[in-house]
Amino acid sequence: LWEKIRDAFEDNVSTTTYSTWIETVKPVSLEGNQLTLELPSPLHRDYWKDKLADQLVEYAYKITKKDIIPNFVLEDELRNEKQSSFEPINDDQKNSNNLMKNTHLNTNYTFESFVIGKGNQMAHAAALVVSEDPGKMYNPLLLYGGVGLGKTHLMHAIGNKIIQDNPEANIKYITSESFTNDFINAIQNHKTESFRQEYRNVDVLLVDDIQFFADKDGTQEEFFHTFNDLYENRKQIVLTSDRLPNEISKLQDRLVSRFAWGLSVDITPPDLETRIAILKTKAEADNIDVPTDTLNYIAGQIDSNVRELEGALSRVQAFAKFKNVKITTDLVSEALKGLNKGENKIEVNIDKIIQTVSSYFNLSIDDIKGKKRIQKIVIPRQIAMYLARVMTNNSLPKIGVAFGGKDHTTVIHAYDKISESLKNNVNLQNKVDELREELKR
Ligand code: ADP
Ligand code: MG
Repeated sequence: LWEKIRDAFEDNVSTTTYSTWIETVKPVSLEGNQLTLELPSPLHRDYWKDKLADQLVEYAYKITKKDIIPNFVLEDELRNEKQSSFEPINDDQKNSNNLMKNTHLNTNYTFESFVIGKGNQMAHAAALVVSEDPGKMYNPLLLYGGVGLGKTHLMHAIGNKIIQDNPEANIKYITSESFTNDFINAIQNHKTESFRQEYRNVDVLLVDDIQFFADKDGTQEEFFHTFNDLYENRKQIVLTSDRLPNEISKLQDRLVSRFAWGLSVDITPPDLETRIAILKTKAEADNIDVPTDTLNYIAGQIDSNVRELEGALSRVQAFAKFKNVKITTDLVSEALKGLNKGENKIEVNIDKIIQTVSSYFNLSIDDIKGKKRIQKIVIPRQIAMYLARVMTNNSLPKIGVAFGGKDHTTVIHAYDKISESLKNNVNLQNKVDELREELKR
């Protein structure tokens, strides 16, 4: 009987609902009208009682023409009945419960494994507050900044901490792309209702890389409603993006304004000290023996982001293993030489930005790098600095140097000025968007 009921569910619910709630059920017995089903966690039992039991009775009636009464029991209860011995819940069980809940959280990304430094201090603090009191202080929390700077890590850390403090919490981590795909599938399979249930039933929704919502009007519409629903019910929303929402072209104004309701914090590339600290932590965690000045050397060579830093360390480790020697500064220098020459990603660099901006505005490169204070030049120069800040991982002083030796405060000023104007100057928004597109080509 259960198999038939299960098939009926399969035809009528989304694949996620099916795999999360239905497939995990084990039939135990059918005694008279009572169908006993074993569920993996209390969460499953609540969900079944609330959401699926009526459907089950209906399907069972169609199949047997009898009124079947479902009886939900938990694995633990059954086992305790049989052994009647008390076993404390061990970590394995806790983990498997988390998996059942389909949170998609990476348990390695925790606050404990996150190294705090200048560029991420604020973001870390805000994330911690949110994880301690979800839905209260900063809603939504938006973390933004360049690639490989720890946005995804912090987002998972929030989820992991909340689960740790409250194992019953219903947390969902998803990238904006998966949200989009899920939504499209739901429409195609006429399952938008269960799609909505799934997303609006959470206590905490973590949406990674919202810049990929750009241009997807239907998904934005749906996400707008998801957002409102969660927000009204004081559920915590956490978002990440590679830039501020108002800099995402083709993101609807109503979303941009909602995303600004809570707190937006940026993460900037780690300074040398932080990079050294991160390398030390990783080396210790992976049990790699690296002398301190060698760590310093790596941190000095790789200044873009944490992902590259990790990559460099693994590369050095592999290199040492391959050559069967100890890790030294010389070895590192050899190992990293290959890295720099390696398959270069198409990366925007400051020179390219200066070049593109100057030709876009019909100015010379010297104009952009120079000191002339006429409006016609000042604004393109500020736009170029702004782009250098948001599109590359260079530090502010480095950007200053590339712009003919300007102070880093000049770069900050330019960045602030342009970000501010972008909020309401459509003309400027279009220009910056066009330049971005041009640069990415
Ligand atoms: P983003 O989402 O901003 O692109 P990630 O969160 O994916 O970046 O981080 C890239 C890698 O760097 C991950 O493996 C992450 O664990 C690590 N990482 C980033 N920031 C830190 C940090 N402050 N401390 C420790 N590890 C970090
Ligand atoms: Mg990320």
